[in-house]
Amino acid sequence: MLGDLLSLLTYDVGIDLGTANIRIGVRGKGAVAIEPSVVAINKFNNEVLAVGNEAKKMLGRTPANVVAVRPLKDGVIVDFDITLAMVKYFLGIVHAQKDDFWIIPKPRVLVGVPSSITDVEKQAVIDAVLYAGAREAYVIEEPMAAAIGVGLPVNEPVGNMIVDIGGGTTDIAIISLGGIVVDKTINIAGDEMDELIVEYLKDKYAMLIGYSTAEKIKVKVAKAHPEIEDKAIQVHGRDMISGLPKAVEVSSKEVLDAISPALSKITDAIKEAIEEAPPELVSDIYTRGIVVAGGGSQIPGLNKLWEQELKVPIQIAKDPQFSVLKGTLIALGEVETLKRLKEAESQII
Ligand code: ADP
Ligand code: MG
Repeated sequence: MLGDLLSLLTYDVGIDLGTANIRIGVRGKGAVAIEPSVVAINKFNNEVLAVGNEAKKMLGRTPANVVAVRPLKDGVIVDFDITLAMVKYFLGIVHAQKDDFWIIPKPRVLVGVPSSITDVEKQAVIDAVLYAGAREAYVIEEPMAAAIGVGLPVNEPVGNMIVDIGGGTTDIAIISLGGIVVDKTINIAGDEMDELIVEYLKDKYAMLIGYSTAEKIKVKVAKAHPEIEDKAIQVHGRDMISGLPKAVEVSSKEVLDAISPALSKITDAIKEAIEEAPPELVSDIYTRGIVVAGGGSQIPGLNKLWEQELKVPIQIAKDPQFSVLKGTLIALGEVETLKRLKEAESQII
């Protein structure tokens, strides 16, 4: 009864501060907004002009004084003030949807942050969220949130391994007893694959394409293992010699060739993470396997590739782009988890 009354006065908001996309959700409701992690600013006075989809639309179509920034590129918060502006904007969206109440309640907010973030930055995220109107604010490291989101038993004394392939970074973590035991972040993920596809078409066909075309090619036809069935896509670009438009057909096999260097680097990083783990956890990983999450995990054949290369069972998460957000929403419902996050927070000086 009291719980029901309290739930009218408050609500729980989870935020995933991804390098490519920001996702925000409400506990009991799921995701409510997904927008690109892009902010348009006035280069001369750093004023924030637009956030998310609006900012992305301005990319390449703006006067010279407007620049679009991805404040979380490479998983580190490149520009903190801009990140905070983005968080405030997204909290505003959720808050505005709460007009079904005659009293607008203040939310409890849990933000998934890159694991490489410093304590000072963590505190700044918490302060920004409180400033934006939250009643309570917590941060959780993204690999932990992703592991909770895919349903791994993170609090048990077993080794849980999660690989999250995002836009700017791949996060690799081994979690046991509620803590991150091994954590590795590399700047090789979806964006790098797009760049490799651009280079490949330049070298092979003397054709110039943009990054968004490269991303489309990757999403439509990429594969991570030669035994996956081949597909093809017609691609339009500019001939680098004549300067005129030209079209070529690109196959999955070609995309595999193009993105192979990125796949190998991710494979090596996973191997290194396993090597750094205590032996008991390693034996858990060999029996329990690795869960792969993040938008980049949707390339067909990743499971085949890694089962072959790493000799461990590989499971691709369901709705992998939402694992972190799901984890934040689950954690908000767990008193013990929130208590642990609060304790970690109190140790930030
Ligand atoms: P982040 O958490 O860093 O914001 P996401 O988990 O949202 O990143 O993943 C974004 C990356 O996933 C982008 O590089 C995007 O191109 C890639 N991606 C999205 N869908 C697919 C797909 N179907 N196949 C391959 N890559 C994909
Ligand atoms: Mg992510």
